[in-house]
Amino acid sequence: MSYSWKIMKRVMNRPLLSHGFMILKENVYQERIIPRMAASSYCQIRNISTSWFMLTEQADKVPTKSPETPLLKQLQARIKFTGPLTVHEYMKEVLINPIAGYYSAGQDMFGTHGDYITSPEICQMFGELIGVWIFSEWYKLGSPKPLQLVEFGPGRGTLMHDVLRVLKQLGLSGDNLCVQFVELSDELSNKQEERLCGCIKSNNDACQDELFYKMSTTIDGSPVYWHRHLSTIPRSFSVYLAHEFFDVLPIHKFRRTEEGWREVLIDMDEEDGPHHLRYILSRAPTPATKIFIQPDETRSEVEVSPEAAVLCRELATRIEEDGGYALIMDYGHDSKVSNTFRGFKNHALHDPLSEPGTADLTADVDFVFLKENVQDKLVTYGPVTQSSFLTNMGIELRLANLLKHCKPEDRKSLISGFKMLTDPQQMGQRFKFLALFPGVVKDFLIKYPPGGFYRDTD
Ligand code: SAH
Repeated sequence: MSYSWKIMKRVMNRPLLSHGFMILKENVYQERIIPRMAASSYCQIRNISTSWFMLTEQADKVPTKSPETPLLKQLQARIKFTGPLTVHEYMKEVLINPIAGYYSAGQDMFGTHGDYITSPEICQMFGELIGVWIFSEWYKLGSPKPLQLVEFGPGRGTLMHDVLRVLKQLGLSGDNLCVQFVELSDELSNKQEERLCGCIKSNNDACQDELFYKMSTTIDGSPVYWHRHLSTIPRSFSVYLAHEFFDVLPIHKFRRTEEGWREVLIDMDEEDGPHHLRYILSRAPTPATKIFIQPDETRSEVEVSPEAAVLCRELATRIEEDGGYALIMDYGHDSKVSNTFRGFKNHALHDPLSEPGTADLTADVDFVFLKENVQDKLVTYGPVTQSSFLTNMGIELRLANLLKHCKPEDRKSLISGFKMLTDPQQMGQRFKFLALFPGVVKDFLIKYPPGGFYRDTD
């Protein structure tokens, strides 16, 4: 029996959460709601992707352009002065422009009234099993204290909330723990503080002389800090979590043409296309094309995220020098798919060029690319599918236990939550888990493999 199973047994009999945040933290199981990567949406994604160069041809059929947004005006001004934007520049502005960016504008993008739903928001079992995984790997590696938990892009703070609850049940809380969040959105940092600390006690402006921009304390007395970047987080043994974070890091897009590789750019559309912006191809190879396209590239389209590579290198250095391990959870592929840039709004696909700043933009994570960036320093496990990881971690047992003790009215939502997380047609197959460990524990891990990865259940 693996460590994670032994530990799972200790939390297995814990009850459902009583305050309604269980399973359907919101009433999410309506037909129209889809995760950011939904089965029904995949064909549409391909269609959007292949049709962007035909937008002008479709123009006669579209009488009016999509509505203007404040961010659109800024982007138009920038294009007028400096020329077309790379997709990387565009995605960065649309998502994290400090005033009008999607993640800065203050709307709640998660759940029924938002734009998409993520696994931790669907069901408490998700975060619980991540908590068990963290504890079992930490225990195997000698239980160094205090344990620093770092999460990138924590959203509403739900994953960390569920993780902390499980760690507390296993005896790890208070001073033995500290939480470090990497989050750019002030609005979301407030939501995270409310979730973990019970209310908003901190003042973002009070931390001007500090490396963090906000500090608070969880209900159980563990300190929580907010950073805008990994580089300001103290160097020590840490567990790093990234759930649906790498997919929002900006990408460059390239396309193979008869003249060679060209970069996809975004220009103003002053003709009668459906939006105020349109895709064009660079006339010559751009600097990014020269850096990122490998001579042996066989695909006809490529998406590359430089930030993802840089972040992986930083994680590799920290994990190698300070100790710790990471779990990256996202939808993605193995360098085979290449045309995945898309938008989400109101739980449906949304053209990325329409109404910039009002919809989430995302691209599949290239797990092979991530692994290539760390393999000289770290040992990697996975990617395995979400279904494999959760099954290996005992989700079926946890479900059975919760069903035994839950109220009759909770049964349906528990079962549909389980199904949504694990069913290959829903989130089970598309979402993948990748774990990173220091190279020095390679032999130890051969003897005691990390939970979640030792068996491929697909
Ligand atoms: N992990 C959460 C939320 C995913 S949404 C969940 O699965 O529910 C993406 C999150 O990353 C948001 O919290 C957003 O504000 C944050 N984010 C986006 N770009 C970022 C960046 N460049 N640096 C730090 N945080 C970022």
